[in-house]
Amino acid sequence: PPSKLPEIGTTIFSVMSALAAEKKAVNLGQGFPDFDCDPALPAAVTRAMQEGLNQYPPMPGLPAFRQQISDKIVSLYGQRYDPATEITVTAGATQAILTTLLACVHPGDEVIVIEPAYDSYIPSIRLAGGVPVLVSMELDEQGYSIPWGQIKAKISDKTRLLMLNSPHNPTGSVMTAADISALCEIVRGTRLLIASDEVYEHMVFDGMRHESLARYPELAERSYIISSFGKTYHVTGWKVGYVAAPAALMAEFRKVHQFNVFTVNTPMQAGLAHYMQNQAPYLELSAFYQKKRDLFRQGLQKTRFRLLPCAGTYFQSVDYSAISSLPELDFARWLTTEAGVAAIPVSAFYRQGKESGIVRFCFAKQDATLHEALRRLAIL
Ligand code: PMP
Ligand code: GLN
Repeated sequence: PPSKLPEIGTTIFSVMSALAAEKKAVNLGQGFPDFDCDPALPAAVTRAMQEGLNQYPPMPGLPAFRQQISDKIVSLYGQRYDPATEITVTAGATQAILTTLLACVHPGDEVIVIEPAYDSYIPSIRLAGGVPVLVSMELDEQGYSIPWGQIKAKISDKTRLLMLNSPHNPTGSVMTAADISALCEIVRGTRLLIASDEVYEHMVFDGMRHESLARYPELAERSYIISSFGKTYHVTGWKVGYVAAPAALMAEFRKVHQFNVFTVNTPMQAGLAHYMQNQAPYLELSAFYQKKRDLFRQGLQKTRFRLLPCAGTYFQSVDYSAISSLPELDFARWLTTEAGVAAIPVSAFYRQGKESGIVRFCFAKQDATLHEALRRLAIL
């Protein structure tokens, strides 16, 4: 039978992590911390299991957990989501994205995607029967920016949804107040929905603020806001995330969610809910990662890599055209094999595999790991 995703292979993150392991390279490819989470977190999960919280939670997630999530969103962005009807716990942001698309996109509907785009977006749109409509970010000396004029030009009666991601993987760019004004202007008077992937919401540097769409009622009313505890609490392997959306949109989401995963494991929800009662370590996360960004950038400045701006996320992109003319995937493989440092080709975030001579490094690593990577890269 014909494949539903004929041109899709294995995700680049698995490919590069496997190569990094085989070559014993420092893995700055796939995005995950190489340090552990706060031990209070696994302790809280273990306690939940020992207390017998081992059966299904309610389909949208444990009420106490949804309450914590709601409280966090109010305190940071001033928008109140009703935990009963407007917040659902998901198996990471990946499931949140797929379920949002399955819930909203009808066969033939168009979904606007801004490239470079996280690699799950386009396959998820296609599985929902949607048609991805691509626009490319613009890149100049200031860095990457969103081409709002082009987006406006692509909107038609067929457009169902706009996929957004800020802070942005892989470019590290962050939406500004000017982006928000442009977005408001574009969607006003349309029936366009928005899926806003905000998994890096707590990693924004140099005093910028995260422009969650939750801050803006005229955007929030049409948005699914998606985040992930993996990034925020250094537990990418737990695969716990959430979606916040107005009740009518959330009702559609839950219709799909209940048959997609039904619900998400109880003890981790209980552990996270307990932990969030008295701690808000994400308030310090931007400063924590800004230090790592600065350490890494300073080291790279001694190489022939050209640094692109990094305003948020834990990714630093670099232009390697002064070092090599290899295509990005070949260069990333060469770097892993020959220099012993794994990276991700940014071409993996473009449907047509656009070549820009740019690779992405993840700096969510212990300082010692970053120093070792820089030592290996110093020869370049
Ligand atoms: N969106 C973006 C932009 C990401 O970078 C990631 C993962 N790194 C995800 C979604 C998926 O998050 P999760 O691991 O919670 O599924
Ligand atoms: N989102 C992470 C990254 O961009 C990886 C997630 C994954 O491996 N699927 O590196």
